[in-house]
Amino acid sequence: MPRILLLLPTKTYRAKDFLEAAHRLNVDVAVASEEASTLEGLNPAGLLTLNFLQPDEAVRWAVQFARQYPIDAVVGVDDDSTEVAATIAAALGLPHNSVESAHAARDKHRMHELLDRAGVPAPRFALFSLADDPVRLARQVEYPCVLKPTFLAASRGVIRANNEAEFIAAFQRIEAILQDPEVAAKGGSATRRLLVESYVPGVEVALEGLLLRGELRVLALFDKPDPLEGPYFEETIYVTPSRLPTGAQLEIANCTARAAHALGLREGPLHAELRLNDEGPWVIEMAARSIGGLCSRTLRFGTGLSLEDLILRHALGLELESLERERQAAGVMMIPIPRAGVLKEVRGLEEANAVPHVEDITISAHIGQQLVPLPEGSRYLGFIFSRAQTPEQVEAALREAHRRLEFIIEPRMNANERE
Ligand code: ADP
Repeated sequence: MPRILLLLPTKTYRAKDFLEAAHRLNVDVAVASEEASTLEGLNPAGLLTLNFLQPDEAVRWAVQFARQYPIDAVVGVDDDSTEVAATIAAALGLPHNSVESAHAARDKHRMHELLDRAGVPAPRFALFSLADDPVRLARQVEYPCVLKPTFLAASRGVIRANNEAEFIAAFQRIEAILQDPEVAAKGGSATRRLLVESYVPGVEVALEGLLLRGELRVLALFDKPDPLEGPYFEETIYVTPSRLPTGAQLEIANCTARAAHALGLREGPLHAELRLNDEGPWVIEMAARSIGGLCSRTLRFGTGLSLEDLILRHALGLELESLERERQAAGVMMIPIPRAGVLKEVRGLEEANAVPHVEDITISAHIGQQLVPLPEGSRYLGFIFSRAQTPEQVEAALREAHRRLEFIIEPRMNANERE
């Protein structure tokens, strides 16, 4: 029986969906995560601890593990593990994206360099050091611009500035985010750098794709109907199929394929954010992983396969019967955190679930949790899912369900309520 190594960071939203898919495939699964599990001794072939922040060490352990329990495919489920997955796959001689391309998809500055070199439309960019004087930099850059760390995800630390004063404030705010110990451990030397991009106006879409030997297959194109104009860029509603004209959708797919090629990505899932304006599509971000959070639950393919089913089948070299998404429209709302505080209560769940075309609501934050909104935070309150005949119905259902939900958030945290 083939064995798949799944790299599941402890904080990932993606564990359940990938584990269920692996179970359906009926293959052996080894789960690697950063924290040792007390169950490891009971299940040595199924659990291992890997430090995703130290790829060399992780590779040594994985190779040692594979000697005893041969591995046929390695899958990193999200941003924290895709690069390590590529490094392990390379060491084991398994087909995968190259380590360089996986790195480029994680490092926003490297990504920009490669897109620029290949002439793929993307924002103009400049890399600055946090040691630079923000007052001086503020006079050099063009406005509006977007400041961001090079290695974070979920719009964390991404801030628009329209003038010098906003630039300086954003610079200092990002500097503070990068000093957070957990963030600093993840970023290494990148914690001392900050990327500034020209602001690209336009509507935004997300493309979910699968690369098969370098060829991009579009699995779904999501519209993001809420305006994303800053200063922070909160992801909310994703709806597929896109309501953009077919020509525009083709341009977006072509632009994404060129970008993937520029980065050297060839195998496995691809998630790209693009903006579309009078000048055509622009690549804002590209990652060598599938869609984040629980959003993949909106997608079903062929005879009912999940996105994770497709990813695992592809990783194992198994046949993919169909990459065709179901005919219905589908969508998700990532419920944003409206303000900082402690989550006390969630009201209106029953009423929200009763909205026609709402399929499910998952509140992923827990009662008592300390909530951190953007730009410092990177989590959501939960997810609302909808399926209907048309994208318009899906969007309306998501908005109505969200309107019926009420989150009681207490601004102050008592010492005895800490997580
Ligand atoms: P992350 O990888 O953390 O999601 P992104 O670079 O994708 O960070 O930025 C998050 C969001 O911020 C994007 O989806 C987009 O809405 C907005 N954004 C980022 N950079 C730009 C830009 N140069 N122009 C316009 N919007 C941008």
